[in-house]
Amino acid sequence: MSINKVAQDYGHGVNPDIGAVGIITEESVINNIASHVDVQLHDRGVEVVWTRPTSVSSVNDSLNQRISKANANNVDLFISHHANMAQGNGHEIWVIGLGGEAEAYAKKVDRALTKLGSNSRGVKVGNLAVLRGTNTPAILIEYFFLDTQSNVDFYNRVGAYAYAKSVVRAILGDEPQVEEHIIEENPIQYGTIKVNSVLNVRDGASTNSSIIGQLANGQKVKIDERYSTDIFYNIYYGNSGGFVHKDYVKLD
Ligand SMILES: [Zn+2]
Repeated sequence: MSINKVAQDYGHGVNPDIGAVGIITEESVINNIASHVDVQLHDRGVEVVWTRPTSVSSVNDSLNQRISKANANNVDLFISHHANMAQGNGHEIWVIGLGGEAEAYAKKVDRALTKLGSNSRGVKVGNLAVLRGTNTPAILIEYFFLDTQSNVDFYNRVGAYAYAKSVVRAILGDEPQVEEHIIEENPIQYGTIKVNSVLNVRDGASTNSSIIGQLANGQKVKIDERYSTDIFYNIYYGNSGGFVHKDYVKLD
């Protein structure tokens, strides 16, 4: 099914439906990531329906209003944005049951966030109100743990834009080639590997990410700045690209 209309469910944010507070607040994370998702969906021609209510009498009322708004607008996919508490590590995606479209989307988002460098806690099944009540495929993303310092550090380093990009690309598929032509600054650079032995190529922007190959001293790489982080370059590698530590690449 192609996606033309998405319900953007910014979790919490309306008293008494209040987000969690860790080292940073859940609501700041939700607002930052989901607002980037809004813009990126819009850029891809996808209509967005916002489901966070402006006034509620209870948490249940908040959830019910979100469900009603999504169902009244015949969305193709419902995405609820959240961040987690209790000192775990990484992201998890919730669905109401396995085997359907929701699980397929959840798996894609899971893979994309893992590729970003986040630890995967997998796709989980839960009888959550917004997943149960919506009559379209629905996923709930817990991006990371607000009270785990390494998770907050990773979020701050990678940034909300990159999280959003991972989600949007996972759901819609890769961008059409034409997008490169409308980017004002050329994001493509070239570099040369500078190592004594070999440099690991990883599938995410983290030393915890899996090694998918190695490059030798002197080899040339093509770099995409859009998906690079402060520490890792995103390079053209194999079919889906890879990441190499910036310390070992000299830009041409
Ligand atoms: Zn939440």
